[in-house]
Amino acid sequence: MSIAENIARVRANIADACREAGRDPKEITLVGASKMNDAAACREAIAAGIDVLGENRVQEMMAKLADNAYEGAPLHFIGHLQRNKVKQVVGKVALIQSVGSLELLDEIEKVAARMDIVQDILLEVNIGGEEAKSGFAPEKLAEAAGLAQTRSHVRVRGLMTIPPADSDRDTNIQYFNKVRTLYVDINEKLFHNELEYLSMGMSGDYEDAIRSGANMVRVGTAIFGARHYT
Ligand SMILES: *Cc1c(COP(=O)(O)O)cnc(C)c1O
Repeated sequence: MSIAENIARVRANIADACREAGRDPKEITLVGASKMNDAAACREAIAAGIDVLGENRVQEMMAKLADNAYEGAPLHFIGHLQRNKVKQVVGKVALIQSVGSLELLDEIEKVAARMDIVQDILLEVNIGGEEAKSGFAPEKLAEAAGLAQTRSHVRVRGLMTIPPADSDRDTNIQYFNKVRTLYVDINEKLFHNELEYLSMGMSGDYEDAIRSGANMVRVGTAIFGARHYT
């Protein structure tokens, strides 16, 4: 299957999930998670109409940027971002989806201020309470969002989550529903309902995520094929 065929199939599945949920497929932003796929694969996805490309690793993203891999589509950073790499990412991507600590938030603010720009971000929620994963605990989210609002060079556009990889399907759906509730709640209480993105769902669960209210899904394997780790 080509990348274009895979994207068409994912879009059809998204449309089915939307129909079931009484939603319009146009509401859904399809992010191609292109880690470990080369510039040619990125260009193929863009030619096939992917909405956004998302990268995980700063070094890989820089190399592909130099290769014009993303021309014609917005680029998001979706992976774990170390503080010492923030200056390579701010201003280069339309959205940093993975802001999961106050330290990272402050570093982005500092770098964006120096560049005199406003960087759009999502706050990442650690919905499974996993020790090893970044992201705000649900009970810390409102505080983090409130703090972000006092910073003038970052703008919160929504929430992102990655549930624990080992959860069974029902538990996974419960996690999605919890994050959706958090999203609706802080959107109303803190953001005058102006948040735009609820980013959840990957190759194995994007249809469930959409039925639970996601409007942005990050799909890698189902578009680009299996990744070969060496
Ligand atoms: C790799 C990755 C994805 C896509 O994962 P697949 O299971 O290959 O679809 C989505 N989100 C993030 C943050 C990722 O790192």
